[in-house]
Amino acid sequence: MAKIDNYNFNRKRALVRVDFNVPIDKETLKVTDDTRIKKALPTIKKILNDGGSVVLMSHLGRPKNIPENRFSLKNIVYKIEKLLGQPIQFASDAIGSRAFEKSKHLKAGEVLLLENLRFHPGEKKGDIEFAKKLAKHGDVYVNDAFGTAHRAHASTTTIAQFFPNDKLFGYLIEKEIESVDKVLNSDEKPLTAIVGGAKVSSKITIITKLLDKVDHLIIGGGMAYTFVKAMGGNIGNSLVEDDYLDTANSIIKEAKEKNVNLHLPIDTIIADEFSNEAHTQIVEINDIPQGWMGLDIANKSIEQFKKVILESKLILWNGPMGVFEMDKFQNGTKQIALAVAEATQKGAYSLIGGGDSVAAVNMFNLADKVSHVSTGGGAMLEYLEGKPLPGIEAILKS
Ligand code: AMP
Repeated sequence: MAKIDNYNFNRKRALVRVDFNVPIDKETLKVTDDTRIKKALPTIKKILNDGGSVVLMSHLGRPKNIPENRFSLKNIVYKIEKLLGQPIQFASDAIGSRAFEKSKHLKAGEVLLLENLRFHPGEKKGDIEFAKKLAKHGDVYVNDAFGTAHRAHASTTTIAQFFPNDKLFGYLIEKEIESVDKVLNSDEKPLTAIVGGAKVSSKITIITKLLDKVDHLIIGGGMAYTFVKAMGGNIGNSLVEDDYLDTANSIIKEAKEKNVNLHLPIDTIIADEFSNEAHTQIVEINDIPQGWMGLDIANKSIEQFKKVILESKLILWNGPMGVFEMDKFQNGTKQIALAVAEATQKGAYSLIGGGDSVAAVNMFNLADKVSHVSTGGGAMLEYLEGKPLPGIEAILKS
């Protein structure tokens, strides 16, 4: 498989699957966050600079298999043109005859955007006939949509078979794959994983997988209270999954057997209601009174976690340390984000992998102070769990 840097797109029409599933204002139909478009620019520019042309395809929102104006990719044409610095063409049906006319006559340096792929039921079904038609738009297929790489859709997976010798990853996916590889498969040590977020149940697969790899496992966020209860602590009204107490105990045992240093919070900020207006106190995490719930980690935990993070060479972070959406309970997550940034500055490699920790790093303006912030929430979690992602497998398969 060719690497994008080594591929010459001169005189080729590249069919590029991007993730332009951007948020759109319901009233004005304007793009409210253009991050995903910006992230696709390096791949598009490389193709154009080589002397190739680009046919872009994506989904947007969740249309019900038929065209709907609010989900039309036409709404984002102005934004792509602005960011790319040139006009682009638009085809209002991805597999209509006019679309094929346009792609057939694309000249070097030109860009065509196809209408929302999910206006066709074949896209989500991974339909081979739909994929075959789409494939006619290009001489080479580039997948740069990491956010949908865990879906076996027509444009992300099925289509790759029509380009047996000319299929490759764009820069964005390449970086996502490299960063996971760097964190989980390199020999540098210590490797620290920080796992937070609401529930043990949604992170159990990744935690189990990480126990085979990491030197330190830091657990914070809502899921920590299930561990504390499993160890016999009083957690008051904190979030808990009683069905997972045994699981928590097995994780503690397995960590010991595998020589993984498991770090749980020592103290916590408790609140008398789930609200930013709540009364708060700081207590030991295993001594929370009835009627109170732990919503963030407190200073002793922060200090302990920071020490581990600052001594790490590789860091993976998934999930916040507390209810960071509320001002009163965001300090724990913020301090951990700052520690990860500081460790990175000292030479560690840090991957912020998926979901709310990505939102947190952005909220504290630290995205450019860590090594890599993943663009694919669910896809990144599945990839870290070691599941093969259909969109990635389809390119790797010869
Ligand atoms: P996840 O999507 O599993 O990573 O969970 C993220 C969510 O967990 C965020 O919305 C946080 O507000 C929430 N969360 C973090 N800590 C707590 C906590 N102590 N109690 C309740 N929810 C929490």
